[in-house]
Amino acid sequence: MRNYFKRYPDENGFFGQYGGAFVPDNLKVEMQKIAEAYFRISKTHDFVSELRRIRKHFQGRPTPMYYCRNLSDKHGGRIYLKREDLNHSGAHKLNHCMGEVMLAKYMGKKRVIAETGAGQHGVAMATAAAYFGLPCDVYMGEVDIAKQHPNVLRMKILGANVIPVTHGQKTLKEAVDAAFEAYLKDPENTMYCIGSVVGPHPFPMMVRDFQKIVGIESREQFLEMTGELPDAVTACVGGGSNAMGMFCGFLEDEDVKLYGAEPLGRGSQPGDHAATVAYGKPGYLHGFYSYTLQNDDGSPMPVYSCASGLDYQSVGPEHAMLHDKGRVDYVPVDDKDALKAFFELARLEGIIPAIESAHAVAYAIRYAKEHPHGSIIACLSGRGDKDIDYVYEHFGLGENL
Ligand SMILES: *Cc1c(COP(=O)(O)O)cnc(C)c1O
Repeated sequence: MRNYFKRYPDENGFFGQYGGAFVPDNLKVEMQKIAEAYFRISKTHDFVSELRRIRKHFQGRPTPMYYCRNLSDKHGGRIYLKREDLNHSGAHKLNHCMGEVMLAKYMGKKRVIAETGAGQHGVAMATAAAYFGLPCDVYMGEVDIAKQHPNVLRMKILGANVIPVTHGQKTLKEAVDAAFEAYLKDPENTMYCIGSVVGPHPFPMMVRDFQKIVGIESREQFLEMTGELPDAVTACVGGGSNAMGMFCGFLEDEDVKLYGAEPLGRGSQPGDHAATVAYGKPGYLHGFYSYTLQNDDGSPMPVYSCASGLDYQSVGPEHAMLHDKGRVDYVPVDDKDALKAFFELARLEGIIPAIESAHAVAYAIRYAKEHPHGSIIACLSGRGDKDIDYVYEHFGLGENL
């Protein structure tokens, strides 16, 4: 893994055999323009210093590294959390949205466009667009709009246009298609901002680079707190952006074990989970090549997780490569373990995690039990306020878990 960041991705956006830009020619041209602008602008002194200032004064970075004394005393080992729930707007997503919208601004774009499923990416985009004073169109399936009322309101209060997508299943996939279509109508003046380390090149690279700060801070903070590196690091994997950010800080430290916690939902049967690396196979989706969960005819398989931010049929191409290289282990965590961790963290540490993040906490607990002298950092990708109604309705106060 020496010189990792100089080697991956290559100039065409490949991480080994994964990634690339498998899109129609007109879109490919636009993606190349964004890649070119990213290389030209993102390393300049002005861009870097403005982003640093934003991270400190607007987002409240660095976010804390927190030692969970009560959780560790109960399970053994030493469990630490990287507190991305304390990043402004309550999750890690703002890290890449601020970067993407700032790039749009530097490129002279007049508007930003995004798709959203559960609404978390939409809220982070609306926040970033308000900061930079750019209009923001968020495409969202009608079914999701009905399910995610608070996030829809947040986006509207922040001044974004939420555009309902009314065809097909009326969920994330149709929203992605509609957003790309709108983008292609006016690529000169608009920027399409993707919500994770997925999609065609250069997005998996750009989003990863903007999320790297999570891993860089974690490594420094852990060293300062303990004088050593952690034995292990874990993060939940939906598209894989918080995990990639976290892993980036430790990829070149071969002794630090890396674990991606994948959503096993109700179990390993098709349709019951979204554990893409564990149960998927290589294929194409949304313009890139990676592991995917698909039917024999190549159509995307239905997926399920209690965490709506994790139910995606693919995973960032860099994760696919890191799995094949054996650098990261992808471990399934089911709904029940995630919910147990959700309540435990709330009651033992006074922190309500997002259900997505609870998957990483659940794996950290599992690791601590098996390694009584080991240390592990879990990325607490977001706060759980958005989940309390859902959790209470389906699992009460956790009595029967
Ligand atoms: C969106 C989201 C995720 C999943 O996205 P990744 O790209 O896999 O990080 C995880 N946690 C929270 C809190 C989210 O909002």
